[in-house]
Order: sequence, then C-alpha cells, then structure tokens
Amino acid sequence: MKRLILTFCALFLIFTAQVMAQAPIKVMILDGETNPYHRWDLGTPILKMLLEETKKFDVTVISAPAKDGDFSTFMPKFSDYKAIVLNYDVPDDRWPDALKKSFEQYMANGGGLVVIHAANNSFPQWVEYNKMIGMGGWRDRSEKSGPYWYYVDGKLVEDKKPGSAGSHGAKLPFQMKVVNDHPITKGLPSMWMHHNDELYAQLRGPGENMTVLATARSQKDNKGTGYDEPQAMVLSYGKGRVFHHATGHDPVAMSSVDYGVLLQRATEWVATGKVIQKVPANFPTATTVSYRTDIAAMNPVPAPPKAAVK
Ligand code: ZN
Repeated sequence: MKRLILTFCALFLIFTAQVMAQAPIKVMILDGETNPYHRWDLGTPILKMLLEETKKFDVTVISAPAKDGDFSTFMPKFSDYKAIVLNYDVPDDRWPDALKKSFEQYMANGGGLVVIHAANNSFPQWVEYNKMIGMGGWRDRSEKSGPYWYYVDGKLVEDKKPGSAGSHGAKLPFQMKVVNDHPITKGLPSMWMHHNDELYAQLRGPGENMTVLATARSQKDNKGTGYDEPQAMVLSYGKGRVFHHATGHDPVAMSSVDYGVLLQRATEWVATGKVIQKVPANFPTATTVSYRTDIAAMNPVPAPPKAAVK
C-alpha cells in the first residue's frame, strides 16, 4: 500500500511539472499613447499575433490613458505577468510616482521587459527607466543622459561628446550582425538582412549591465554615423531581465521575419531565462530579406501623391 501511495505521489508530481512546463507564459503588452508617428494601434495587434502564434504566451493588452486621462486609477498589476512588452512612445514623464515605483519594484524583483522601437524615446527624465533600457533617443536627451554607445572594430565604444540623442535615415533594408552569443540569438545566422526600417543611431544612456547582441552599420549616405549601432541589447535591472529591440518602426518593418523571431525568443528569455523555440527555415540570410506578406499588408495604404489627386 505504501509503495502504491509513493508511486501515485511521484506520478502526480511528474504530471504537475509537465502541466507547469506547458502553461502559457503570461505577457502584458502595454501601449496607449496617441502618436501619429508611432501607431501603437497598428503595432499592438501584430505583436499580439506574433506572440500568440507560438502557443507559448497568454497575452493581455493594457492601454494607458492618453495625455489628459486619469492616471490616478491606472495601476496595472505588473506582478501578474512574467513579461511586459512595452509598445509605448510617451513624450514625457507623466506617470505618477506610485506607478513608476510599482514598475521599478516589479523589475527589481525579477520581472521581464521587452522594449519595442520608440518605447526607447519615452520617459526621458525617469532615471530608473533609462537604466532599464540602457539608452534612448530624442525628447531632449543629451550628454546629461549618458554617453553614445556604438561599435568600432568589433568593440563597444562609450562616447561622452556633447550632443542630442537619436537619429535615423530613410527606411531601407539593412544588415544585422551578431556581436555576442546569447540564448536569444543562438542558432541564428551571424548576419542577416532586416526589411525596410528606421535604423536607430546616436542613442544615449547609462548603458549599465548591458550586453549588445546585434548591431547594424549606420550608413553615412543615409544620414548615418558610419558606426555599427546597437539594435538589440539585453540588460539586467536588479533581478529583472530586459531585451531592448530598437527596430520595428511600422508594420512593414515588423513584417521582417527576424523581427518576429527576436520578439518571440526575447519574450521567452525575459520571462524564463531560457529560449527553447526553434529558428524558422524562412529566417533571412546575410544577403536577402525575408518578410511576411500578411503583416506587411497591415501597413496603411499611403495617401496618393498630390499630382494624382483631382
Ligand atoms: Zn520610428
């Protein structure tokens, strides 16, 4: 009888472990700022679709109030989620202190954060947020925000010269290059082509506890710096894990296969510290872009040229 009970207990523990291993990872996509340049209302459905199609994530979208909205009652329970995907380009530091503190505690206690493209423009004066993202652009960031960070001859350079932060050229394809081994980039080619996007350059920030995973050459003939600019970074903040993804301006950029793959793998990593997803066969190569027509079709049709309007 005793042996039977022990066998039953062992089977129950194995079953529970399997169920827990298969339970979807709870993810919050946080968006909400009205911004005609970075359309969160276009980007969030794409992020949600990309995460859900892995069958690994249980995704909830939470939209923050707009500029004149009521922040006094806006207090998402961050600790209910293993990862927060921040698709949020807010032009100032409008969060009340209690909300900021709640987010800082979530991260310090082991939370997961994925920062998408222009979310690195947000909160220019919030010191702890800028520690989480490592570097950001625009919104009056300057040498007071921290140095510029870029790669020269395969080495990360910290440049303290004065100047504004954040620039990009026209949306063109560009080559991404892996510069450090990491579970997120394991199994990816060492170089690949990213579909038409803004290549962020001249980001500034504290850069503490930051490892750059991939860079792209900011070409001088496209208003660039001539340096290899960081495009994918991991950081630690207390016990928390951060992935900073500088690419992904619009649905066309987000349709690039590498974009979705990095989002999926990074969200798993910030939530669990591991990546067990496989790299898809249609991942772009060092010379050829690969993009999803279903996502590219979600881009708004541009207005016709003026000459064509009657
Ligand atoms: Zn952009």
